[in-house]
Amino acid sequence: MEFDHILIRYGEMALKGKNRKKFIVKLQENIQRKLADFPDVKVTRTQGRMFVLLNGEDPVPIVAKCKEVFGIHSLSLAIKVENDETKIKDAALYALTTSENVKTFKVSVKRIDKNFPIHSQEMNQVIGTHLLVNTTRYKVDVHNPDLEVKVEIRTEATYITASIIPGLGGLPVGTSGKTLLMLSGGIDSPVAGFLAMKRGVEIEAIHFHSPPFTSERAKQKVLDLARKLTEYGNTVKVHIVPFTKVQQSIFREMPDGYAMTIMRRMMFRISEILCEKEHILSITTGESLGQVASQTMESMNAINEVTTMPILRPLIAMDKNDIIKVSRTIHTYDISIRPYEDCCTIFVPKSPKTRPGREKVNYFEGQMNITEMLEEAVRGIETVKVTNKSDTVGEFDDLF
Ligand code: ATP
Ligand code: MG
Repeated sequence: MEFDHILIRYGEMALKGKNRKKFIVKLQENIQRKLADFPDVKVTRTQGRMFVLLNGEDPVPIVAKCKEVFGIHSLSLAIKVENDETKIKDAALYALTTSENVKTFKVSVKRIDKNFPIHSQEMNQVIGTHLLVNTTRYKVDVHNPDLEVKVEIRTEATYITASIIPGLGGLPVGTSGKTLLMLSGGIDSPVAGFLAMKRGVEIEAIHFHSPPFTSERAKQKVLDLARKLTEYGNTVKVHIVPFTKVQQSIFREMPDGYAMTIMRRMMFRISEILCEKEHILSITTGESLGQVASQTMESMNAINEVTTMPILRPLIAMDKNDIIKVSRTIHTYDISIRPYEDCCTIFVPKSPKTRPGREKVNYFEGQMNITEMLEEAVRGIETVKVTNKSDTVGEFDDLF
């Protein structure tokens, strides 16, 4: 006996009408892609249920992969048997005895196939007794059991499931449109990307790079971060913007206190142009209110003025510690703390204004040829498609 299925639960309460179908199809597709390394494993849908068919594969690595797919709220290992009393009892015994940290259990039978001769209540008793008679270390607890052995008797077969394993939750990536993630090499923006993905949003990334002040390693770091994010979704296109000239002009020509605000305004303008080209409907940043000078309410107000795009700021209300916690969980933290400078850390004005006035910013900016600077930067964009496949990884490593 062994677990031959994984039952996928996707919190369908929130789903209505047309979205429901789209959601389920996308989820199936995303799980399939995630499990591409296991060609024998299949993802199926039958009568409102989604299952991963293991076809002899070890469930452990497959469960681990499913735990990185948004839209799965929980999952359980399952055994499929014929609608036969003895087989059902044996499978229930297997489910109980292979589950870890279980002292108490309860059996819950759901009889959907009304042709099955034993009623649910009676079947609960029959299986419960079988489990107690054939083991010594378990007790029944109907109110708060460590494990609920669920038995679903359907027309085509019976499914017996063991422990409930929590999933990532959220919505399947690809069901909520696309955003352009402003991806620095820092701790915050990858977490912001992850949280946007959690709501079903697909991402492309934009990174402002200022060679030779920022090294190839800083760029590699961003590609590595993007690759981590692909583990929770699909391929991520990373658009690398040559930003040296823009930054040099700003820091040469603009008053020190306003340089930061103006630089960030340029970033948003370039991002907006790219969004139009790529048909992307929003920008996402890793900003968190009050974290640094550019993230005060006044700064955000002055910076945001240059675009009418919706800006998603998933971290806006999060404390740094909580952001770090997420970054550790999603394994971006160790990449983010690599020491290579990014363009913002190098061109740091001595005393950035924490309350830059819009009029002043506009006045100073008017002295630069913004259009030309933008056009040149956009023309120089290099786009790298980051996939989760090892061959692409090799390609990047060859850069150095
Ligand atoms: P992070 O940890 O994401 O770098 P931060 O705390 O360093 O954020 P800022 O430097 O003010 O904060 O940047 C705020 C946001 O602006 C970042 O989260 C990111 O979305 C965007 N950003 C900053 N620098 C870059 C860059 N070089 N390329 C792309 N986006 C950037
Ligand atoms: Mg940063």
